[in-house]
Amino acid sequence: METDDQPAELCPICQAELAWPDGGDCVVCSGCGQQLSVLGQRAFARAEAAFLSARESLGRGYWTGSGRRAYTAKARPDALPLAPDVVRDLQQAYAGLHAAFGLGLPEVQLRAGVEMMAEVMRLLAPRGMASPLETEYWIKMAFGLAARDELLSLQQRLEHSKPAAGLLQRVRLRLRHHQLYVISTRLRGQLQELERAIGFVERPKVGL
Ligand SMILES: [Zn+2]
Repeated sequence: METDDQPAELCPICQAELAWPDGGDCVVCSGCGQQLSVLGQRAFARAEAAFLSARESLGRGYWTGSGRRAYTAKARPDALPLAPDVVRDLQQAYAGLHAAFGLGLPEVQLRAGVEMMAEVMRLLAPRGMASPLETEYWIKMAFGLAARDELLSLQQRLEHSKPAAGLLQRVRLRLRHHQLYVISTRLRGQLQELERAIGFVERPKVGL
């Protein structure tokens, strides 16, 4: 896998070319004006490369390298061992994402980062290689972000739907909106409790 520590050469938001400074902590994109942390971008690039490498290996089969006891019909896939290079990649992705969250990322990378983290934890946790509480946290966070997106898009549809639109459709939209609102509120509370239990200092700053 890619091991050089270079951050992306294009802005993650507008894809403009970035001129990385020789020294200094951050770069400002000439295209969109976004300020990017050099270390944050490096950590994210490292995590993303490791994650993609793990995904690629997993695409070729989960259980390579685990020898004679690699696969039995009775074993649940979640309990089967992962190849050592996959574990290393997943752990590197985990560490890189933690570092990147702490250093600050733009929203688009935070979102991608939370989804990657949830996937990493889903693979490591059933094998006893990740904390169950933290796994629950990242999976709930990814779920909460998806619920928030749907809520925002429903809000827009409700605001722009004309009175002539079918009453039934508006009632359905309102019901779904209410459901999502309740789910999101509950999730926020659960995430806060989990944060306290885990003792997080580097919560990704997503607007949840
Ligand atoms: Zn930009």
